[in-house]
Amino acid sequence: MAKLRRRFLVGGIVQGVGFRPFVFNLAEAENLVGVVSNTSAGVVIEVQGLVAQVESFTRRLEDDAPPLSRIVSVQKEDMPSLGEFEGFSIEKSRHTPGTNTLIPADMATCPDCLDDIRDPGNRRLGYAFTNCTNCGPRWTIIDRIPYDRPFTSMASFEMCPQCLSEYEDPRNRRFHAQPNACPECGPQLWLEVGGQRLEKADSLDAAVQFLQDGKILAIKGLGGFHLAVDAGNDDAVQRLRKRKFRESKPLAVMVSNLEKASCFVSLDKAEASLLSRPEAPIVLLAKSTPRGANCLASSVAPGHQRLGVMLPYTPLHHLLLERLETGALVMTSGNNSDEPICLSNDEARTKLGTIADALLLHDRKIIRRADDSVMQILQDQPFFFRRSRGFAPVPIFVRDDGPDILAVGPELKNTICVLKNDRAFLSPHIGDLENLQAFEFFQETISTLQGVLECTPAIIAHDKHPGYFSTQWAQKQSCRLVPVQHHHAHMVAVMAEHQLEGQAIGLIMDGTGYGEDGTIWGGEILAGDAKGFTREGHFEPVALPGGDAAIKAPWRTAVSYLRHAVGADSVKDWLPGTYADLAVGPVLEILEKGINSPLTSSCGRLFDAVAALTGLWTEAHYEAQAAIELMALTTPEAVRAAQPWDRPESSLILPVRPFIVATAEAVIQGVAPQEISARFHRTLIDTLASAAQLAAQKTGINQVVLAGGVFQNEILMGGLMDALSALGLHPLRPLQTPANDGSIALGQAVIARAACGLQKT
Ligand code: ZN
Ligand code: ZN
Ligand code: FE
Repeated sequence: MAKLRRRFLVGGIVQGVGFRPFVFNLAEAENLVGVVSNTSAGVVIEVQGLVAQVESFTRRLEDDAPPLSRIVSVQKEDMPSLGEFEGFSIEKSRHTPGTNTLIPADMATCPDCLDDIRDPGNRRLGYAFTNCTNCGPRWTIIDRIPYDRPFTSMASFEMCPQCLSEYEDPRNRRFHAQPNACPECGPQLWLEVGGQRLEKADSLDAAVQFLQDGKILAIKGLGGFHLAVDAGNDDAVQRLRKRKFRESKPLAVMVSNLEKASCFVSLDKAEASLLSRPEAPIVLLAKSTPRGANCLASSVAPGHQRLGVMLPYTPLHHLLLERLETGALVMTSGNNSDEPICLSNDEARTKLGTIADALLLHDRKIIRRADDSVMQILQDQPFFFRRSRGFAPVPIFVRDDGPDILAVGPELKNTICVLKNDRAFLSPHIGDLENLQAFEFFQETISTLQGVLECTPAIIAHDKHPGYFSTQWAQKQSCRLVPVQHHHAHMVAVMAEHQLEGQAIGLIMDGTGYGEDGTIWGGEILAGDAKGFTREGHFEPVALPGGDAAIKAPWRTAVSYLRHAVGADSVKDWLPGTYADLAVGPVLEILEKGINSPLTSSCGRLFDAVAALTGLWTEAHYEAQAAIELMALTTPEAVRAAQPWDRPESSLILPVRPFIVATAEAVIQGVAPQEISARFHRTLIDTLASAAQLAAQKTGINQVVLAGGVFQNEILMGGLMDALSALGLHPLRPLQTPANDGSIALGQAVIARAACGLQKT
C-alpha cells in the first residue's frame, strides 16, 4: 500500500497548550511514525505512514486540536523520499532567543481535573491546586521565559515521583504541565483569622463555615485576591460594601454551576457557552425573578438589569462553592477602592485585614496580576467590558507587519500593547494610572511584556494628552515617540482587530479625550485609517464647569447644558425641584466668567446632563453611574417603540439643544424617567445614524466603526448597529476588545506603525 511522508509547520497559539502531546497521541492513533518539535517559527511535525492515515492525521490536526490552542496557519509539504523513523518522538524544545513564543493565558479547571478532585479514589481528591496541560495557571505564575517550571512560582515545589512520572509521560494529560502538583508535593492552603493561622483539619470547611456565618473572606485566587461573602446574605453584602467604601457599584457573583445561575439570571445558549469557556469571564446576564429561597441579596446589583456572573475557575473555587449551601458568592476584587488587586499574602494581610474577617491563603506565589475579564453577549456576539484574565496576553492578530511598537495607553482603564509582527499583545487590565500602585503596575507590565516577548521597541506611541502619566512616562524614554489622538486610537483599534482594509467612518462616543484643538473631545465623527483622519463632525461643544469635577457631579453638567440650550436667565425655570438644594448660582457664575470651564463635545457628558436633568443621579458614586443607570431604565424594545424628539435637519455638527430641551420639558410634564430614557436613546440612535449616513455620502466611505466608552451601552450599540445596517452601511463594533479605553493602546500601536512606515526597522 502507498506510503507518504508529510511535513507541517503549524503557527498560532500552539506552545504551552499541550500541542505536542496531542500530535504525539494523534500520530500513534493513526499508526504514523515521525517527530514533532517546537521551533521559533511554530510547531514542526513530520509524519510518515499510509496515505489514508496521513490524510486523516492532517484533517484531525486542525479539527481535534487541544482546547487552549489556536491554529492560525498550517503549511504542508509532501516529502519526496521516505525517511527513517522509529516510532513517533517528541523532540525536547530548545529556546532560541527572539522567537515568537506565545505565553498562554490562565485557564479554568478542565472537566477531567474536576473529576479528579471529586473522585474519592483519586489522590487529588479535594486538592485545590490540581491542574493539567489543558487547564490551570499560566501567565500569573510565569516569572520569565521559556515557560518551564524553574521559571515559574512552582519552582520551589519539587515534584514527587508520581507527579514527575505524569510530567514525563507524553500519554499523560499532565505531560509537561508546568504547574503539576498533588497534595504530597504541591502548594497548601490555610485559613488566617486575626493574624493567626487556624490549625484546623480542613481549612476549606472552616472557610465555608465563616461564609455561612455571614463573614467576609479574602480568598487568594489566580490573578489576585477576591473579597467574598455569601451572595444570599444581604447583611453580609451590605457590610462588605461599607467596609470597602463601595456604596452602589454592582458586585459580581460566582455560582457553583449553570443551574445555580439560572436561579437568578436568564441565559441563552450563547451566554451559557460564554460562561463555561476556559477563559471563565464574568458575564453580564439579565436578572430574572428569583426562584426559590436563599436567592440573591438585593444589595448585590441595585439599579441594574444585569448581574455579573462567573463560574468557578480554580479547583479552590469549586471546592468552596460545592460546600456552600447557597452555592453563590459575591466575589469582588480584593483591593482598596482604586488600587490594583492584592497579590501577596503580606499585602492582603495589610490591606484587606480591615475589610475581611478571615483570609484563605496558600503558598503558591502569584507573580502577575490578572483581574477578572468582564463581558456579555450582544446580538449573539461577544461584547467586552474588560479584557484581562484568560484573554491577556493572547495576541490579537493584525493585518500588516512592520516595526515593533510599544503603546502605553491612556490614563484610565489603562492597558498597554506591544505590537510585534502581525501580533498585538494587549496587556491585562492595569487600571487608573493616577493611583500610585497602578502606575507601578503599569511600569512593571511594560517590562514584563517586553521581557517575555523578548522585544524592546524603539518606537513608543502615547496619547496626546500631556498630563497623562502614561504620556509623561513615554516622554522620559529615549525612543522615537508618536503622539496619537485619543479618538483616532479608538477608531483604529476596531479597524485593527477586524483587519479592515481601506478607510472607515468612526463614530466615537466617549467620555473625554484630548482634542487636536485643545478642547475636550468625546462625541466625534471621524474619517480615515491608521495613517490619518479628518474630524468630519462632532457634538456641539459645551462648557464643563469645574472640568473633571463635573464628572462626579452630573448636576453641574446639567446646569451648563441647560444654560447652553435656553440661556443663563432661564436656567432656573427649567430645572427640576430637586435642584433647589444645589449650588446652581455659583455654577452659573463660574460658567459666566469662564473659570476652569473647558469646552467639551463629549457624548458621555450629554448622557450625564440628560440623566441629571431627570432629577435622579445628580451625583455619581462610580464612573458613568448616571449613564449606566439611565440605560437600565429602558429596553431595546421600548427604545424602538419610543417617539423620537424633534431634531434639526441632519448635520455633522450635532446640536445638544434638542436633547436638553426635550428632557427638561418631559420632566416638567411629569413623563416617567423610563420613557425619557427610551426617547433619549431613540433620538440619539437616529441622530448618529443620520450623521453616519451624511458622512458616508460626503466621503464615499461606507464602513462605519463604533467605539468609545459610551458604546458600552448595549442599547445604543445594538440599536445603532441595526440602524446603520438598515441604511445600507457596513457597521463594525469591537468584538475582541472593549469599546472603552481598554483598547486605546491597540489603536495607538497600529497608528504608530503606520506613521513609521511599514518597513521593519
Ligand atoms: Zn485539567
Ligand atoms: Zn506530587
Ligand atoms: Fe476614550
